[in-house]
Amino acid sequence: MTEPLLGQMMDIPLNVSMLLRHAARYAGDTEIVSRRIEGDIHRYTYRDCEKRARQLAQALIRLGVQPGERIGTLAWNGYRHLEAYYGTTGFGAVCHTINPRLFPEQIAYIVAHADDRYILFDTTFAPLVAELAPRCPNVKGWIALADAPKESPPDSVPLLYYEPLLAAEDGEFEWPELDERLASYLCYTSGTTGHPKGALYSHRSVVLHAYGASLTGAMGISARDSVLPVVPMFHVNAWGIPHAAPLNGAKLVLPGKDLDGKSLYELMEAERVTFSAGVPTVWMGLLAHVREGGKRFSSLERTVIGGSSCPPAMLRSFEDDYGVRVIHAWGMTELSPLGTLARLNWEQSQRPREEQRRLLEKQGTVIFGVDMKIVDANGAELPRDGVAFGDLYVRGPWVIDRYFATETSALVDGWFPTGDVATIDSEGFLHITDRSKDVVKSGGEWISSSEVENIAVAHPDVAEAACIACPHPKWGERPLLVVVKRPTGDGLTREALRAFYEGKLAKWWIPDDIVFVPELPHTATGKLSKMKLRDMFRDHVWPTKERT
Ligand code: AMP
Repeated sequence: MTEPLLGQMMDIPLNVSMLLRHAARYAGDTEIVSRRIEGDIHRYTYRDCEKRARQLAQALIRLGVQPGERIGTLAWNGYRHLEAYYGTTGFGAVCHTINPRLFPEQIAYIVAHADDRYILFDTTFAPLVAELAPRCPNVKGWIALADAPKESPPDSVPLLYYEPLLAAEDGEFEWPELDERLASYLCYTSGTTGHPKGALYSHRSVVLHAYGASLTGAMGISARDSVLPVVPMFHVNAWGIPHAAPLNGAKLVLPGKDLDGKSLYELMEAERVTFSAGVPTVWMGLLAHVREGGKRFSSLERTVIGGSSCPPAMLRSFEDDYGVRVIHAWGMTELSPLGTLARLNWEQSQRPREEQRRLLEKQGTVIFGVDMKIVDANGAELPRDGVAFGDLYVRGPWVIDRYFATETSALVDGWFPTGDVATIDSEGFLHITDRSKDVVKSGGEWISSSEVENIAVAHPDVAEAACIACPHPKWGERPLLVVVKRPTGDGLTREALRAFYEGKLAKWWIPDDIVFVPELPHTATGKLSKMKLRDMFRDHVWPTKERT
């Protein structure tokens, strides 16, 4: 046997810090523009951003943060949040982005589960932090992303201020070379049953995902772009844009907390944005604003729409009415998140417009690096004929192996089961047709159906209850509760049951409608059949505002 012949190239580990260092060196003057929560516009460059990220790393090290420890963030899309991405991961700490839209009990659970050392927060979340701090005893300090205030803060929360922490450091700090398999970011998803689960990305997976996202056949970000991620930086790292933009030296525009149509439109126009990305609900607001005001997009060329299915009418409106190309994308937290994007190859783009559209309305084809298949209930692969549908499985170097702090792999024979149900056609286009995981996705945010059901069955007049996702024109999906009353509960009304939820759930988790049925459909094994239920209520008409 001869010795294996190894390649003789440099073995440079892929580190997240490389992305910002590259942008600071080779696109040093390119701007990062942020609408601050104070309402004004902040501008600086990649060079400035890297300097402040180094200062943050120094400050955190001075506070005693060790590599591998988690630093939480509760923040909007803005330059300080971007600095937090790099100032933590750059020296080996883990950036844990927290979704502030979850309710406090869930956030407290996530903070404890992640074992966050410090949490950086935008001051809009100060009331939330005041509520969380007593429940999170292991957090050593809460760092307000702000200057120090004039009056002294309440001493019930161990508060620190970001700007004075940075001002005390000189930024003379070299990013260490880290093993590329080390953890970099931690993102929790509620898109599964039970408690939220953490996806712990490595440096390698984040850098490879940034390369993949940048491909012309994916997001196609380049140095000619002005990029505005509407998707929050607390949602799967804003789909990787804070990494793909510096990799390409693209201008970055960070919209802060105001994501209504008017605010987004004005920022897009002012900063000559060419590329954007977000969930359908956000685009609905933007399109309504543009339509009502008779406005045009003067610079926007294309936008990625994902996180939920993009309604065909939205795709058509962007393209036909405004000349903006829509790239429909599918992904998930467990995939960092990009899996597929709908782009046409040369031959497909020669076909009649309607045929092109039928492809573009699907979720698209995989980015190099991700592989997918659909399987039946026994795990046997199904044909790629666009007709057979089954459970969607994926694999690739930016796909999760196991959830954070769990012993067992989440994989089945080396593939990750996504919980989505799909077809794949002969040209490789994925079409998501349903979901086997039992959750509702409203405006891009998860609602746990089991929590909604648990409260319902605690009502003395409820025998059985099922919460399902129903299509909704604004939110994509909303929760509908289907209830079987107890024999004694004849008098139970929809209003009384909705009132029963008050104070027990976040308002936006409360079912918009409740219907009473004599019985719920069950499978052969006696399990509740949510698929059947979803089918029964596919065309459910939601109550109008006046009736609710
Ligand atoms: P998350 O982990 O919050 O990003 O949610 C991922 C899930 O959102 C997927 O497993 C799908 O159920 C759903 N999803 C994401 N993108 C799409 C899309 N383009 N069409 C339909 N469902 C989608």
